[in-house]
Amino acid sequence: MAKKKTEVEQQKPVVVNEASLAFFEKYINNPSPTGFEWKGQEIWLDYIKPYIDDHYVDNYGTAVGIINPEAEYKVVIEAHADEISWFVNYITSDGLIYVIRNGGSDHQIAPSKRVDIHTDNGIVKAVFGWPAIHTRLGGEKEEAPTLKNIFLDCGCTSKEEVEALGIHVGCVITYEDEFMVLNNRYYVGRALDNRAGGFMIAEVARLLKENNIKLPFGLYIVNAVQEEIGLRGAEMIAHRIKPNVAIVTDVTHDTGTPMINKIVQGDLSCGKGPVISYAPAVQNNLNKLLIESAQKANIPFQRQASSRSTGTDTDAFAYSNDGVPSALISLPLRYMHTTVEMIHKDDVDNVIRLIYESLLNIQNGQDFRYIK
Ligand SMILES: [Zn+2]
Repeated sequence: MAKKKTEVEQQKPVVVNEASLAFFEKYINNPSPTGFEWKGQEIWLDYIKPYIDDHYVDNYGTAVGIINPEAEYKVVIEAHADEISWFVNYITSDGLIYVIRNGGSDHQIAPSKRVDIHTDNGIVKAVFGWPAIHTRLGGEKEEAPTLKNIFLDCGCTSKEEVEALGIHVGCVITYEDEFMVLNNRYYVGRALDNRAGGFMIAEVARLLKENNIKLPFGLYIVNAVQEEIGLRGAEMIAHRIKPNVAIVTDVTHDTGTPMINKIVQGDLSCGKGPVISYAPAVQNNLNKLLIESAQKANIPFQRQASSRSTGTDTDAFAYSNDGVPSALISLPLRYMHTTVEMIHKDDVDNVIRLIYESLLNIQNGQDFRYIK
C-alpha cells in the first residue's frame, strides 16, 4: 500500500516551483490593503512581465497583463489583488485608536494581534489591546470583541503623541503575520484570499510561455483591486476590456473544520481540488467547458451552488457589457479573513492546471450562447 501511494504521489503534476514559490511568499508578505494595492501590483507585474506581450494599470490600480493584444476576441482570467484591512477612525485624547473596517475584517480575531499602521513616514507598529482575564472576572457575562470595543495601542499617552508618529484618521492598518508552509502540505498566510488567485493566474501565464503555447485569441490576465468592498475593481476593468469570456478565480470555504454547517455552506474540503460553481451569473456552456477540461486532464474538482450571486468578481464580469459569459474556479480555503488562512498545495497546482487546460479548449470566436 505504501508503495502504491508513493507512485501516485510521483504522478502528481507539480506546477509551483522554487522560483514561483519565492514570488508567492514575497507577494503575500507585502501588504496590499483595499484601495492601496499599488506596491503589490508592482511585485505582481514584475513577476508576470516576462510571460506577457503588453500590460497596463488603470486609474485605481487594477493591473492587466496581455498576451496577443491585437486579437479581436478577448478572454479574461482574473483574480483580486486587495487585502482586507482596517482604517484609523478615531484617536482618543489619551492616545488609543478606534478603527473601522476596510473590507470584511473580523473583530473577533483582533484582540492581542500586532499590526502595521501605514503612514507617510512608513510603518508604525501597534497592538490590539484587550482587558486581562483577571480584570474581566466577577460573575458577569464575558464581553465579546466588537467593532465598538476593540482598540489599538501604539504606546502613546495622548492624541498629540499619536499624531506625531504620523498617524491620522484614514491611515490603513494591516496585520504583520507572514507566509509559512505547514506540514509541507498547506500554505498559510494573510489574505491568501485572494492573492493566491493573483499568484495562480500569473502561473498560468508562465506555463503558457514555457510550453510555447500560441493562443488564437487575446488573453487578459487581470489582477483587480477593491473586490473586498464590492467587486469594484472588476466592475471598472470589465468595461475597459469588454471581454468575450471571463474565467474568475477566488477562494471558497473549506467546510470541514468545526462550527461550520454543511447544510448551509455545502461540503467542500481543502485537498480535494478546485471548486466549480453553479449560480445564475455562471454561464453554463462555459462551465461545461471547464468541467470537460478537468475531466480530460484528470484534474479532481468539487461543486458548489450559490443562490443569487457568487459574491465574487464573476458577478461583476457577467453583468457587464450586455452580459459576458463568465465562470468561477474557486480555491478551497480554511479560516477565511483571519491571519492564518490555509490552502492546500495540491489545490493551488490544480487550479492553475484547470485554468490552463480550459484556455487550451476555448476556440477563437467561440459563441457560448444557449440558443443560436
Ligand atoms: Zn475576502
